[in-house]
Amino acid sequence: MEHQVLVKEDEQPPSQSMTKEEEQPPSPLLSHPKNGTGVNDPLEIQGCKIHYISRQKDEDLFRNDDIVSRLWPDVTQDEWNDWRWQAANRVRKIDTLSAMLNLKPYQIPKYKRLIETFHYSITPYYLSLIDWSNPEDPVRKQCIPDIKEVDFQMVGDNDPLEEEEDMQVPGLVHRYPDRVLAVITNTCAMYCRHCTRKRIWHEGETIRSRKDLTAMIEYVRATPEMREVIVSGGDPLMMNIDVLDWFLGELRKISHVEVLRIGTRVPVVLPMRITDDLAKMLAKHRPLWLNTQFNHPKEVTPEAQEACDKLLRAGIPVSNQSVLLKGINDSVEVMKELCHALQRIMVRPYYLFQCDPVKGVEHFRTSIWKGIEIIELMRGYTGGLCVPTFVVDAPGGGGKIPLQPFYLLSTIDKDVIMRNYEGMIVKYYNPQENDFIRPRRKNGNGNSKDSGTAQLIKGSKKALVPEENPRFRRRKQKNSLFKIQGETT
Ligand code: SF4
Repeated sequence: MEHQVLVKEDEQPPSQSMTKEEEQPPSPLLSHPKNGTGVNDPLEIQGCKIHYISRQKDEDLFRNDDIVSRLWPDVTQDEWNDWRWQAANRVRKIDTLSAMLNLKPYQIPKYKRLIETFHYSITPYYLSLIDWSNPEDPVRKQCIPDIKEVDFQMVGDNDPLEEEEDMQVPGLVHRYPDRVLAVITNTCAMYCRHCTRKRIWHEGETIRSRKDLTAMIEYVRATPEMREVIVSGGDPLMMNIDVLDWFLGELRKISHVEVLRIGTRVPVVLPMRITDDLAKMLAKHRPLWLNTQFNHPKEVTPEAQEACDKLLRAGIPVSNQSVLLKGINDSVEVMKELCHALQRIMVRPYYLFQCDPVKGVEHFRTSIWKGIEIIELMRGYTGGLCVPTFVVDAPGGGGKIPLQPFYLLSTIDKDVIMRNYEGMIVKYYNPQENDFIRPRRKNGNGNSKDSGTAQLIKGSKKALVPEENPRFRRRKQKNSLFKIQGETT
């Protein structure tokens, strides 16, 4: 695979020589949880404090973080808010990891081998979200390398979705009938420890060569059924803005390409990268949709909100694709809070992915029943706009398979028996093609000896309602209230 780095001085992050990371002594970096936005009391969910977004972001928030103040004692507010400074100061060396984890000398070689196998890089911003007093902190688990990544190397595949097999030209995955996935870079702002494409990390931080990008464009041009191109990586928003603009523009010129889509985690891990210029450039290529990946409500910060807001104001819909991660978001409380937080910032919860069986990721994987349980306890209990579709990406390139609880229970003649989220069981007449000439079978053949679903099937009842149903309790209360009012007027 041919790669070359395409750079442009004023857009690329400053070179690594500008980072201060290596200059820091490997002192133990510990701490107190940083303060919240100061407006609302933090909500505690499974040991994690979650700060609701304030209307005004706290300009000095980052200064409260002990690690940040030790690693970058002289950083100014302007530097902190500059994505170039953030990118250039990404934490990525063994010394810093050792200091953050307070490693003993004998542990260092093992961690060194770990990050040689699966490199790491964390933006100061994302690092500042970690609560170091909580070893189970969900942000920490997503970005700090864990020895389990190499200990569980025997489990999983490098490429379980067989993306490489479906690449028609280097980097272009043609799997579905009307859309393709263009993997145009393997550079990310932060390397998620649960990444499905860990296999490409060993190639270093590069983007596809102009020749490869051109070959992708030509393939799409020559394939008239391609109505949508998903541009991903790595993270395409870490690329030179001019190269990305050119690539999107070439795709946009193809008459059968109706829609472009960007896959990026930048709004979550480096929100300051969403500048007005970047949003303006992306807006030129509409209809363009953007999918990001918030996995925990802690990540929905004022900065992330501002980034999403810039995109939305530029006319770019933002959707979210979470990954179901053990110990991070595998509970209905966390997932519901995440989806509510996303809805508040106008980001649509779109998918909840079962974590793929990738080498080095096994410790994040949950049973698929966990995903179904989460959907079971969200669907109906909260608005449909807050409920993502739970999907398993099938091994062997089978694509996404949606999974959900069973709602269809049975079929009898032309009726179907279904249940709702409350456990209420109903019979539903399923309209038939010839209904207009064959009248519907009348209900009412039941008798008092019938019980259970027989009451539905024979027609003596329309629904079976669990006891203690709050909705029916409300109805009863309302009816008795009306009765009382009727008696007194
Ligand atoms: S941003 Fe996406 S591609 Fe990059 S490491 Fe995270 S999951 Fe993988």
